[in-house]
Amino acid sequence: MSGKVTFRQDWCKGCGLCIEVCPKKIIFLDTTTTNPKGYHPATVTEMDKCIGCANCARMCPDSIITVERE
Ligand code: SF4
Ligand code: SF4
Repeated sequence: MSGKVTFRQDWCKGCGLCIEVCPKKIIFLDTTTTNPKGYHPATVTEMDKCIGCANCARMCPDSIITVERE
């Protein structure tokens, strides 16, 4: 199973909880950009490694992560 993850990056507060629970370790805070709230938003670097487990989406306190399973 693979997955496609999208973040509503403008709402991310950079807490990093999603990073800790990803079994594939593919989530990072994007230090090349700052969102309107002043945080580096979470992003996925190697989407082809995502297994669609949705751990990240369940963990996000602000529910800004959407996971589609393929
Ligand atoms: S769905 Fe699972 S594997 Fe994919 S980014 Fe989220 S925690 Fe990582
Ligand atoms: S858990 Fe949510 S708010 Fe925290 S870094 Fe991840 S996407 Fe951003």
